[in-house]
Amino acid sequence: MASPAESILQTARDSRRLEAEDALWLATRLGDDAVRRPLLEVASELKRELRGDVVTVSRNVFIPLTNLCRDRCAYCTFAKQPDSPEAKTWALDEVASLSRAAASMGCIEALFCLGDKPEIAYQSHKKWLQARGFETTAEYLIEACRVSFEAGMLPHTNAGILSADEMTALRRFNVSMGLMLESTSPRLRGKGMAHQYAPDKDPAVRIRMHEEAGELAIPFTSGILLGIGENDEERIDTLLTIRSLDDRFGHIQEAIIQPFHPKPGIRMRAAVALTDAEVAGWVALARLILGPDIEVQAPPNLAPEVLGELLHGGVSDWGGVSPVTVDYINPEAPWPALDELRGHTEAGGQRLVERLPIYPRHLNDPRFTDPLVREAALRLATEDGYARPRSSGAPSEAA
Ligand code: SF4
Repeated sequence: MASPAESILQTARDSRRLEAEDALWLATRLGDDAVRRPLLEVASELKRELRGDVVTVSRNVFIPLTNLCRDRCAYCTFAKQPDSPEAKTWALDEVASLSRAAASMGCIEALFCLGDKPEIAYQSHKKWLQARGFETTAEYLIEACRVSFEAGMLPHTNAGILSADEMTALRRFNVSMGLMLESTSPRLRGKGMAHQYAPDKDPAVRIRMHEEAGELAIPFTSGILLGIGENDEERIDTLLTIRSLDDRFGHIQEAIIQPFHPKPGIRMRAAVALTDAEVAGWVALARLILGPDIEVQAPPNLAPEVLGELLHGGVSDWGGVSPVTVDYINPEAPWPALDELRGHTEAGGQRLVERLPIYPRHLNDPRFTDPLVREAALRLATEDGYARPRSSGAPSEAA
């Protein structure tokens, strides 16, 4: 007779979806090897059934357009105060030259990652923008994306909360955009919690932006942040919310499963991080919960000791890896070189394939991109919709 774990996993495997009650049963037993091992096994089998042996990666350049932000998340090391010597808003000519350098290194994706609406909090930043003819950071961002696109890159923007009008304007130069949902838990906005001083982390606001991106047919990256004060039920609710957004709009291209690591100098420095085994367990749960269409991404620099476990847990994408810039969000965690990542992926019995910042699923459907970016993306793509081999760096290989 099948054990409870075996019968839950068989149901998930057959339906290619794991539902809330069963997910919670598994989540509360991740410390038990007799549950965690078969969970990883089934997630791995499902991943192979859905994607074969392909694990993707995007060769990118990270452009932190501004590290000013109006929010103050308790775990953030990215945002700086305007009077900090590390505060920086990139000039457009810097964006252009970095984009050109990245293109010459075979990078395709320009990842624009920046603080949320700093002009609301800082007069000095507002004046900086106005002196250059812009009223908002979002307006400036649109211009920066244009500059990078014209330098040969495919931008992907993650700028916090954007309005539908701002996303519409950005869509002209972005093949995809993103916003980590992080957590659907409103508790995290409470006193002493991670998002107390972060109005843009209100789950309802973030879900609304995901919906608007769906209405605008923007291929969208979402994700969950693990270990910021949420509980198992809230993690499952977050993953189920991402799935239901894709069920409604078909636009969620990937979900990032990102563990938070406590660091010195932040309010959450004493938080307890998830163990590597728990991270791998949540990758496996995500593979089963999210359904067949959404890629499961795990950043390789945030769990470097357990890449084999992550592969075994059903990861299908390593995210962006840059030969040009550091991970400005987690600068203490260097990205592996592409060759090294290829070695790890092959050691796990799979193949590393370079992709664009848009996956074949959305590239092959013209509704999801503006004609100009679509044309540029198609020029860089193989027939299968992955990245064409390029003269610099490691060759791509299509499935
Ligand atoms: S919104 Fe992002 S950049 Fe701003 S404080 Fe929070 S984590 Fe940092």
